Amino acid sequence: MNRVNNPLNVTTSADPDNIQGLLSRTEPSFASIFEYTTVGMALISLHGHWMRMNSSMCSLSGYAEEDLLYKELHELFLPDEKIKMRARISQLLSGDIRTIHMEKKLIQKEGNILGVECDMSLVRDAYNQPLYFISQIRPLPPKSEMEQKLAESEQRYKSLIEHNPAGILTCDLNGLIKNVNPAMERILGYIESDMIGQPVNHFWGKENEDIGSSDNVVMQADNYMLRVSHKNGGIIELGLKNVPIIVNGTIEGVYLIARDITQHNKDRESLRVAQQDLHDTVRRQQGMTMKFRQMRGKFIHTLCDGELLYRLGYKPSNILGNDLYKIWPFYMAVNIESYYSKSWNGDQNVMYETTFRGITYLTSLRPIYENGRVVEVIGSCVDITERKRMETELRETKELLESFINNTTDAICVLDLHACVISVNTAYEQIFGWHSNELLNRTLPIYPAYLEEQRREIYEMLKAGKQISGLETVRLRKDGQLVHVSVTKTPIKNEKGEIIGFAGITRDITERKRTEELLRKSDKLSVAGQLAAGLAHEIRNPLTSLRGFLQLLQSDMKGKQHYFDIMLSELDRINFIVSEFLVIAKPEAIHYKKSDLQGILQTVVALLETQAVLCNVELILEFESEIPELICSEMHLKQLFINLVKNAMEAIPKDGQIKMTVSLQGTDLIRVRTVDNGCGIPEERLKQLGEPFYTTKEKGTGLGLMMCFKIVEAHKGTMTIQSQLGEGTMIDVFLPTQPNNGEIVEST
Ligand code: ADP
Ligand code: MG
Repeated sequence: MNRVNNPLNVTTSADPDNIQGLLSRTEPSFASIFEYTTVGMALISLHGHWMRMNSSMCSLSGYAEEDLLYKELHELFLPDEKIKMRARISQLLSGDIRTIHMEKKLIQKEGNILGVECDMSLVRDAYNQPLYFISQIRPLPPKSEMEQKLAESEQRYKSLIEHNPAGILTCDLNGLIKNVNPAMERILGYIESDMIGQPVNHFWGKENEDIGSSDNVVMQADNYMLRVSHKNGGIIELGLKNVPIIVNGTIEGVYLIARDITQHNKDRESLRVAQQDLHDTVRRQQGMTMKFRQMRGKFIHTLCDGELLYRLGYKPSNILGNDLYKIWPFYMAVNIESYYSKSWNGDQNVMYETTFRGITYLTSLRPIYENGRVVEVIGSCVDITERKRMETELRETKELLESFINNTTDAICVLDLHACVISVNTAYEQIFGWHSNELLNRTLPIYPAYLEEQRREIYEMLKAGKQISGLETVRLRKDGQLVHVSVTKTPIKNEKGEIIGFAGITRDITERKRTEELLRKSDKLSVAGQLAAGLAHEIRNPLTSLRGFLQLLQSDMKGKQHYFDIMLSELDRINFIVSEFLVIAKPEAIHYKKSDLQGILQTVVALLETQAVLCNVELILEFESEIPELICSEMHLKQLFINLVKNAMEAIPKDGQIKMTVSLQGTDLIRVRTVDNGCGIPEERLKQLGEPFYTTKEKGTGLGLMMCFKIVEAHKGTMTIQSQLGEGTMIDVFLPTQPNNGEIVEST
């Protein structure tokens, strides 16, 4: 016998060289039985190697004994039940069972397969230590036709179990596992040998307390579900069905057919969660979602939920399954029904507003089509109560503002960022004489040229976000007249605080100014007037006697005639001046008649020309248009213009120009404009002009301009003074041709 190294490299207690000894030691006659029995016999080491075999075994397998020595036990069999066999061998070793009986397929040396019955038992020594296995192998008796069929049907049954995608587990009535198919192994992660012989609840008892003992599992009649732990620790869910194994009319055991429904359950749970989520969303939405369909001529609600529904005082159960007339008051139901019909008939865009219990909401309906037919209508409703309230409030505020803007006497204008007009109100048109159409999209034409700087400053302040309030200044009317105004301007900002335009409120304060001035001046004037009247009387009386005596003396003093003439003319002049004072006190003393202004002005110029030449001043008189005659006092107008021109000449230190231009404003207003390029008047002094005794000149009287104002006033005209320090002065005298619509009458 060849010595072969032990392939497992362990000391076996059964040394093949000692086998004979072993056999003879066990039983003297055993060796001969072993050798000569017709049954194939073999000794197999504890490690599963062929150690010894008799001649029957050699002829059964076709191998010589030497060929087999140290081959693995399994090498001679088809591997189909290798695992099962291993499990049984372990049981033999542990002493759980005493013998194994199996049917196996022997692979003969020539390659033929021979069905054999195989018995195996363990031989132990006197100390009960395992020595080796002894195995008997016999060919299976040839099968009868019946047996053949039975075997085939068993194969079919086996194949059904083996290849079934469902996990199948067989157990006896005590719940002990008898058989497990590969699908079941896959589901649970255990192999067959881990499971066979175990109580079934061992595998899922922990997870399902309510199931209790294995018996209970076995007794389940209907489909049921179990949560079991996979070998890897994960929890899986099984859908199970028990099928009883009935043999000869008695139940021997149960098939447990299991399906892993973990994923299926997960999917179902996700679906449930999604549905719940949808339901919650519909319920918790601020608005309301509803559906309805037409059934037997009525619109029946199939869905209705959302917070709005509860605010309206309803619950879904009040709406679901009901038609409009069961839900709403009759008049509302009729109204809503008309919209429902429209949508049911396919109108894609139906919207309506409903007000109920103080809540206004907007519903939009959308038909749902199936196979080209409307099967349902879905409606979404939003609460618009607040929006409505705000809209009404806004509209009212807007109307209020508009009416305020258009009825106020203040001129209001709204300008864009480039200071171009967006809108002006009626008062604006009235005060400045422009029609709003003439102003739209252009810059305001109301700044006098000399206030260009002021305009610039105003817009710079506005652009810097500052406000201008109550600025008292002057503006130009369309007809060229100046208006005294109080200006308030504010930047308009959007909600982000960015400036997007300007708003201006301009108040016409001409009248106020005039009244103020009058009030102020009239104090001084009346004092001056009374003074003048008193003085005039006091002076005129002695003057009369002086003149009388002078005339008396004149006849006696021949040769000194020249002196007398001078004295008399000087006296006349004093008398005239004194009379002028009387005019101030009593303007009614002026005598009016129709006169030609051109003639009056030409006389004034002729009178002052010599003096102008002396001062090196150019005096120009220009008529821009044909001037009609006017009713006036010639003498007083001469006095007026002499005063103005004289002041102008006195304002020109050297070399200058005085230009008088006469033009017709409209049909019956004459403007005489006197412009000089003299020293000008500081702004703060302007309003003092015309006050009696206000003068800046060493030998001035401060009465000239006061007389001028008086004369113009007596003629129902106006006089404005504009001046720029160091540049010159412009004085406009406006005289109506028919003062006060003929109130002042021509005196004869
Ligand atoms: P008077 O000429 O006697 O000073 P007026 O009443 O005529 O009195 O004038 C009052 C003041 O007004 C003058 O002193 C002068 O300061 C100022 N004024 C009048 N006209 C002009 C003018 N064209 N240019 C500059 N200052 C003027
Ligand atoms: Mg003067």
